[in-house]
Amino acid sequence: MLHSAILHAPDAGGGDGRMHLPGDPPSLAALQELDAQYTIDTYARHPLDAVRGEGVRLWDAAGEEYLDLLAGISVSNVGHCHPHVVGALTGQAQWLLHASNLVHTAPALQLAERLATHSLGEGSKVFLCNSGAEAVEGALKLARRAKSAGDFVVVRDGFHGRTYGALSATPQEAKQAPFAPLVPGFIVAEPTIEGITSAVTERTAAVLLEPIRGESGVWPVPDEVLIAAREACDRVGAALIFDEIQTGLGRAGTFWRFEATPVVPDVMTSAKALGGGLPIGAIIAGPKYADVLQRGDHGSTFAGSPIIAAAALATLDVLEDEALLSHVRRVGERFREAIATLPRVTEVRGHGLMIGFDIDGGGAPALVERALLEQRMLINATGPQTIRLLPPLIIQDSEIDEAVTRLGDLLR
Ligand SMILES: *Cc1c(COP(=O)(O)O)cnc(C)c1O
Repeated sequence: MLHSAILHAPDAGGGDGRMHLPGDPPSLAALQELDAQYTIDTYARHPLDAVRGEGVRLWDAAGEEYLDLLAGISVSNVGHCHPHVVGALTGQAQWLLHASNLVHTAPALQLAERLATHSLGEGSKVFLCNSGAEAVEGALKLARRAKSAGDFVVVRDGFHGRTYGALSATPQEAKQAPFAPLVPGFIVAEPTIEGITSAVTERTAAVLLEPIRGESGVWPVPDEVLIAAREACDRVGAALIFDEIQTGLGRAGTFWRFEATPVVPDVMTSAKALGGGLPIGAIIAGPKYADVLQRGDHGSTFAGSPIIAAAALATLDVLEDEALLSHVRRVGERFREAIATLPRVTEVRGHGLMIGFDIDGGGAPALVERALLEQRMLINATGPQTIRLLPPLIIQDSEIDEAVTRLGDLLR
């Protein structure tokens, strides 16, 4: 039903292909001034003032068009301003924005049903929240509620978010060190069979990992390591938690990444693309863990608000489409094959449209800046030699050809 709308977003802007803003938007320089003076300086922002998005394109206030190969860090999987999501959002906005979890609201409860019935099997249940880090926090609480005072095993170079529990699960020196002491009880394992097997003990409450480590440069965890983690958790009665915040919702070519592996986790976290561009997260507990958290154990004021849940339901309408998922697998493979032929590229990794590639000689962050200024293209560097691409899943073959040409020009 939605398929043609998904794969053929309408053209943007006026007839000249440029975007025309009403009134007089502030200049980029004025925004940079506000940023310097009034925001706590935690971000190195690109010199781009984004005012409009549609499909795989963004426009700045001057009407310049950009090819977005990052999708707001794997948030806009359905493309910017997908008409079905915008329609659901504006429709719900006429009725009710927020009512709290002290009452029943249809969008949140229908969203819980959709996620529970399309994830970890019969008997799964969902806790909605507002972001990825919050989903991780809740999943950690859930695992410790199931195994009192237990330890958490996490893997080297994993990323799970910036709040204290999620940060404690993110063993990266630069991110953790300034904020010590962290939450106790986290054990760091190498992402190998031996590493995980030896880290898991009778005291382990959970093993938490990303099936493809995203922030550290798109490193798929091999199937045999996932199997070892599953077996280790079963041996000691610990929960296997997959952080699918980045890998899920079609990004890696299946609806959840675990579906392409031989392993089913006990608990999953989701966020990023779930709201079609709006903030939301979810803990999905499989049948064994669905009834661990009790009334009063956890909560969140905004979680599952009607407006966000309505957008998430519309987002799932688009993403739960086998035709779209097979499109992601096909164009993702094409994209990776084309990138592998470009100059300076030494390795290409990933699944579906979660793509990382290494470049000879380093300088990836400078390349990202040049991509923006010279090629009008948003890409991302996860380190000095690694570029990461997370384009909207609706990206077309012609847009991939365009991206490959621009990447080639950049690398030559
Ligand atoms: C982005 C991300 C998070 C954190 O999500 P936020 O919404 O930024 O808190 C956690 N885990 C993974 C794997 C992520 O990619």
